[in-house]
Amino acid sequence: MMVWVLLGRACIGSSASQELPSVSCPAPHRSSLGRRGFIALTAGAGCALACGAGRPARAARPARELSFHSLRTGESLTAVYRENGRLLADGLAQLDYILRDYRTGDVRPIAAGLLDLVHELKQVMDYQDPIPVISGYRSPATNAMLAARSKRVAKNSYHLRGMAVDIRMPGRPLAELRDATLSLHRGGVGYYPESDFVHVDVGPVRSW
Ligand SMILES: [Zn+2]
Repeated sequence: MMVWVLLGRACIGSSASQELPSVSCPAPHRSSLGRRGFIALTAGAGCALACGAGRPARAARPARELSFHSLRTGESLTAVYRENGRLLADGLAQLDYILRDYRTGDVRPIAAGLLDLVHELKQVMDYQDPIPVISGYRSPATNAMLAARSKRVAKNSYHLRGMAVDIRMPGRPLAELRDATLSLHRGGVGYYPESDFVHVDVGPVRSW
C-alpha cells in the first residue's frame, strides 16, 4: 500500500505579499478565488487605515486542515485549505487530487463548502485521524457506470459536481456519524450501513 503525505501551504494571495515569494499554484481553476481573496484583503487593509486604530483587531481564525485516506488508492494526505478565512489554492489542489475519480484519474474542484462541512464533522465527532474516503469526485463516465449497476446511485449525483463524499470514521458507530451530519442541516445525508459509509453532500437538505 502506497502512503504519502503532503502538507498544504499558503498560495493564494502570497504574490501580493512583500515578505513571501510567489508560490506556484497547481490549480489554475482556483485563481479567481485568489483574486477575490486578494481584493477582500486589500479592502480590509484600506478600512484598517481609514477607520483608525480605535477598533479592536479581529482575532485570527485558526487554519482549517483536513486529512484523508483514500481506501481506493491507499494514499493519505493532510492539507491546510483555509487560513484566516481565506481559501488556500495549494491545499485545495491537494484535496482535489486525493478526492479525484480514482477510476479515470479525473481531478475536479471539490466544493469548499463540502470541505468546511467535513471539517465541522471532524470537530463535532472529535475525530483526529485521517478520514477514510470511499468516494469523492466522480466523472460522468464513472457515475453512469455505477448508476447502471445500482439503483442506489443517482444519475445526477452530487459526486459529479465535487459536492459529495462517502466517508466513515473508524472506531465510531456509523449511526453516530450519520446523526452528527444530520444535526448540521447542511445538505444531503445518506446512510449505508451495509457498505459502512455515510454519504455527505452540500446539496439541498435531505436524508435517506
Ligand atoms: Zn455518495
